[in-house]
Amino acid sequence: MRNQYSLYFLDIDGTLIKGKDLLPKTKTFIQQLRKEGKQIYYVTNHPVRCHDEHVEYLTKLGLSINKEELITPLDGLKRFFNKIDVPYCVYVAASSMVKQKLRDWDIPVIEGTDRQLDNCYVVLGMSSSLNYGILQEAYECIQKGATVLVLNPDRTCPSNDYKLLDTGLFLKLFEESGDLVEEPIIIGKPSVWMQEVLAEKINVPKHEVVIIGDTIASDIALGNALGIDSVFLTNTDIERNYETKTSTHVMSSIKELVERWC
Ligand SMILES: [Mg+2]
Repeated sequence: MRNQYSLYFLDIDGTLIKGKDLLPKTKTFIQQLRKEGKQIYYVTNHPVRCHDEHVEYLTKLGLSINKEELITPLDGLKRFFNKIDVPYCVYVAASSMVKQKLRDWDIPVIEGTDRQLDNCYVVLGMSSSLNYGILQEAYECIQKGATVLVLNPDRTCPSNDYKLLDTGLFLKLFEESGDLVEEPIIIGKPSVWMQEVLAEKINVPKHEVVIIGDTIASDIALGNALGIDSVFLTNTDIERNYETKTSTHVMSSIKELVERWC
């Protein structure tokens, strides 16, 4: 690898995969990193699958990954709740996996909104099981003063044919209602909780660490907050008005990166 980096944080959607396909040269890139003994962490804002499912999914796509190498918004969420030292409750407007994880961590998850909600948080995350009833109950919690925890701020997610509605757009619904009492808290990249999760993984000088992603607002912002180099990939065109100077490098895709660095 013709660069100084020994630890790589890699975004997944739009960087390594698009929809259900690996992007060109992704396999070559990962194989090269493995061959040279580089450290790899996959950092996703994907709020639907648990770690095991995500690893299985990526392995099926042909990506070499270990469970310990995957970082998701759930890691940030766990960190967030660990720091709360007063009684609270949580309403989940996200996938059933998120709900199950919170229960596994003994976090008080509520069903329905027919009780007094002191220190209530609504966990909001894109999921195909979100429906009107769930969004309405979340809205009721919000009207009672709940704070929204946003698993990922992305408004859309790249996929094969059409982009997917993502969590940031559901947040917009609540913001447009005018009933948000508390400022929403972003949990996924580039939040301070995710910064802490990544910072713990860095065991080499910072100039040897790089983050690679296709979103300025999450991937590149996270790299800048950590004081590490970044590569912004323009291939998914998710950022139409990006400021290239915010990242250390700008390339079109992993394919170009492989051609230049491998
Ligand atoms: Mg991405």
